[in-house]
Amino acid sequence: MRRGDDFLEALYEETADNRKVRQEAETISEHRGRLIRELRESLGEFRLVEQRSVKLLERVEFEDYIRERVELSIVDGLAFASYVLLPKGKTGKLPAVLAVHGHGYGSRQICGLNPDGTPDTGESDGYRHFALQLVDKGMAVIAPDVIGFGERMLQVDLNANPPPSNSCYRLATQLLMAGKTLTGLRVAELCGAFDYLAGRVEVDAERIGIVGFSGGALLSYVAAALEERIRAAVLIGFPNTFKDSIIAVHHCICNYTPGILQTAELPELIGLLAPRPLFLESGDRDPIFPAHGFEKAVRELRRLYRSEGAEDHLAYDLFPGVHEVNGRRSFEWLREML
Ligand SMILES: [Zn+2]
Repeated sequence: MRRGDDFLEALYEETADNRKVRQEAETISEHRGRLIRELRESLGEFRLVEQRSVKLLERVEFEDYIRERVELSIVDGLAFASYVLLPKGKTGKLPAVLAVHGHGYGSRQICGLNPDGTPDTGESDGYRHFALQLVDKGMAVIAPDVIGFGERMLQVDLNANPPPSNSCYRLATQLLMAGKTLTGLRVAELCGAFDYLAGRVEVDAERIGIVGFSGGALLSYVAAALEERIRAAVLIGFPNTFKDSIIAVHHCICNYTPGILQTAELPELIGLLAPRPLFLESGDRDPIFPAHGFEKAVRELRRLYRSEGAEDHLAYDLFPGVHEVNGRRSFEWLREML
């Protein structure tokens, strides 16, 4: 009997061979342009609001920073909240960061809060309250609530008994049926949040980076590939190859983009950020983004950055740990790069 395992392996190799043939017939700039175009097409299109609305929901002053919660509307028919963290005691325009959470309960999880908005005074979880770490370093931060998590779960999922931990499945499947993707929807909102951040009077629009963890790092690299004004990126608990992680390990359906392997493997897609500063971070015992795949991605990206004469803009840290945020080198590196 001939099983599907070998068939899938052969399909992966055939897709890789086809990519090579197409690439060989292109100049470097043609290739790059096609990757961006195909990435954009694979995500699906979303209608944006004509007039963006912003509503201030909360403003709290702490000793070292100010925390605002603002409601933004970017994609027509949707609105969402984001935290904006502003360091105190700084003069001049601030460098800034989009801080993007992955699976979990939303922006509160990275801003030192419990799901109900009360302060999280216990031991921090794998997210290490990373938005707070960034504002501590003197950067303004926006942490948008990504659709499908926390208070942005679908009502139908919140009503279920027991409720699922997120609404990725229902959102992703219905979007796929309509020729769109959940990554596309999330990135459209993130790009709108970037615009809002860039327009804040406190922020230097020329010095805005992005930091994402896990599913948030997926959104971060796609947003940075499509939005060239994002100056630098830190991708945590995600850089890998599709072969070693996304297609080898059971992941949430929100990680799967139709046809993406016909366009490129993951390191090459992340390489669309070159020559902009890029930091790759991963735990050496991360079970879902394995270290051997991370090392392959680093090698491929080093080759890409070298070919652009930008090797000094690429840094990485394989820290001792699991699927979690570390930040021991990356956050300070980001501040220096901005
Ligand atoms: Zn998901």
